[in-house]
Parts: sequence; structure tokens; C-alpha cells
Amino acid sequence: MPHGPDERAARLAHLRGQRLKKGDPVALPLTMSTMFHLPGDPAGFKQYGRFSNPTWDALEEMLSHLEDAPALGFPSGMAASSAVFYALLKTGDRILLPSDGYYTTRVLSDRFLTRMGIGFDTRPTATFLDGGFDGYRMVFVETPANPSLDICDIAAVARAAHEAGAIVVADNTTMTPYGQRPLDLGADIVVAADTKAPNGHSDVLFGHVASRDTEIMAAVADWRKLAGGIPGPFEAWLVHRGLETLHVRFERMCDTAETIAPRLAAHEAVKSVRYPGLPGDPSHNLARAQMQRFGFLVGLTLASKETAERFIGECELIQPATSFGGVHTSAERRARWGDAVDDGFVRLSVGCEPTEALWAAIEQALDRATT
Ligand SMILES: *Cc1c(COP(=O)(O)O)cnc(C)c1O
Repeated sequence: MPHGPDERAARLAHLRGQRLKKGDPVALPLTMSTMFHLPGDPAGFKQYGRFSNPTWDALEEMLSHLEDAPALGFPSGMAASSAVFYALLKTGDRILLPSDGYYTTRVLSDRFLTRMGIGFDTRPTATFLDGGFDGYRMVFVETPANPSLDICDIAAVARAAHEAGAIVVADNTTMTPYGQRPLDLGADIVVAADTKAPNGHSDVLFGHVASRDTEIMAAVADWRKLAGGIPGPFEAWLVHRGLETLHVRFERMCDTAETIAPRLAAHEAVKSVRYPGLPGDPSHNLARAQMQRFGFLVGLTLASKETAERFIGECELIQPATSFGGVHTSAERRARWGDAVDDGFVRLSVGCEPTEALWAAIEQALDRATT
């Protein structure tokens, strides 16, 4: 029976506890070992640290519980995406990527996949269905796209892409399994950067791949074992700890984003706000239909580059930094990386600070940035 998010979160806290024997440690032990005691026939046992590790197993059990699907850990979000590409694509294949999604996925395709004879095209997330999917082996969606926060209809993309014979991959980093469930909507594979909200403490890079298709997971597992892009046990241990509080952090972050987005939109210093939770946002209706929450990322456009930099730099409760999903609120001007957004566009990653204290600091910084 599928669990609702609350039940899924509640059970997550007890996955490990259910199997403990008397005297076992309640907290997950960190296993740093390349070797395992292995006399005689090695079949069915842990063999070598590149193949498996007990700390990975514990984390992957949690990820799998959250995704309702087998999951594999990777040393970063990009390692997860590239494992999917290298394990499943071959010369002559063509893939479709979002033109407004995470930039590195396009650069990787351009620099390395094309050399292997794998072509790619890009399309804006907001009109991702236009043009159909004929000729593609793989269709890769990222919704809400980072940083534009446009969204696309995952179920409709999956239907049309499957009819055209393509595999559908969803980068679910911005929403986490609590905020959106691409596999339930028809995607074949989820990839995510657990570097962001799932780990949550801005101290570890990590990623995962999840799929209910056994052949896909076997190919991705084989790729990881053979290519050697494996996670460190300590990183896995930290993400395991982070996931224990993901639900409470994510709820707070989304609640606060929902509270402050309309206030930002009403502030005279703000030219425009993108947030799927705002009733006037172009993403709103679809977001209500396919997302569990509206997320914790808010895009706001201020008058100019200078105003935006002043706002980010002067707000006492905003950490100026790239990346997102930490316990602390952070922000940056995305145009500094060449994203196709307004010079005054700020991506705000709402953290876990108490809502009204955070808003007071943001409002004060907005007032100051404009005077
Ligand atoms: C950060 C991010 C990634 C890459 O994750 P890393 O852990 O930095 O490799 C991929 N997709 C999205 C949407 C991201 O935000």
C-alpha cells in the first residue's frame, strides 16, 4: 500500500530499529573498510569496498523507502546523472535536456556525450511537450527547473515519451521525494543531488539514482561498480543522518517560502517573484496538481545587479552562496554564472530559521537596498 508523506516520514525513523538485536547500537555504525572477512566461496557476502558497503546499504534502504523504489548512492548529483547516461546510452542515441535546467548536465553532454556519438537537443521546461519526443532514446526533465522555476507536466511528458519509445529521467533535486514523486507520475528514473536539502547541512556532496525497472538498476549498479564512481562511507553516513530530519526541515522550509513569497511580491523593491505556490505564477495550476509542496526556492527580481548584490550582501540572515537546500537561508544572483535570467534575479533558498525572524531580516535588507 502506498504511504502518504507523513507515514513515509514516520516509518523512515524506524527502518533500522526494526531489525536490531539486543545490544546493537541504535545509531548507524560507520563502516570504513575496503576488505571483508572472506574465506572460501565469496558468493553472497560482502567482498570489496568498491562493490558494496554496509553504510551504503543503510542509506540506500532509506532512499529506497523515500522513493518507493530501489536506489543507489553516488558521490555527487552529477555522478548519479552521468551514471544514468553512461550506463544506458550508446552511440547513435539522442537525448533531450531542459534548456533552463541545471547547467552542468548540458555541459557534460556537450563535452563528453557528443564525442561518443550521442546527440542532444534542449527545450525550455515551460514548453517541454511542444514538438513531441520522436527520435529520442532518453528524455530528461527537471521540474521546477533550476533556477527559472518553470515546470512541466511529468505525467504528460512520460506518456508522450513512452509512446515515442524513450526512457524518462527526472532530476528531482529541487523538490526531494517529499515534495514531488516523479516515479509515481510515470518517470522511469529519478536522479537527485542529495548535496542539497536531503543532506541539508552544506557539508557533503552526494547523489542517488532510483528506478522501479530492474534492468535499469542492474545496468546502473554495474556501471558504478566497474567505473568506480562510488560514494565514501563517511559521506553516506552523514546523508543517512541528514535524511532523518529531512521531513521536518523540508516542511519548515516550504511553509516559510509560502509565507514570504507573497510578502516579497508585495514589497515595492521587488519587480517580480517566481514561486510555484503563488496563485498568479505561470506554474501554479500544474504545481498544485503534480507537486506535494511548492518547494523552498523563490526567484525574485530586483531593480538591478547592484540592488540585488546589496540585498544579498546586507541581509543578516542570508548566506551569500551558490547551491541551495541548507538549514540556513542562502541566495545568489544567478546571472553571475551566465544563466539566462535578469541581472537583478536572485535565487533565494529558504532555510530553517523561524519564519518571522527571517522575514524581518529580509524586509529590512530590501528596504535598505532600495534607499
Ligand atoms: C546541484 C544540482 C545537481 C548536481 O549535484 P552535485 O551534487 O553538485 O553534483 C544536479 N541537478 C540539480 C537540479 C542541482 O541543483
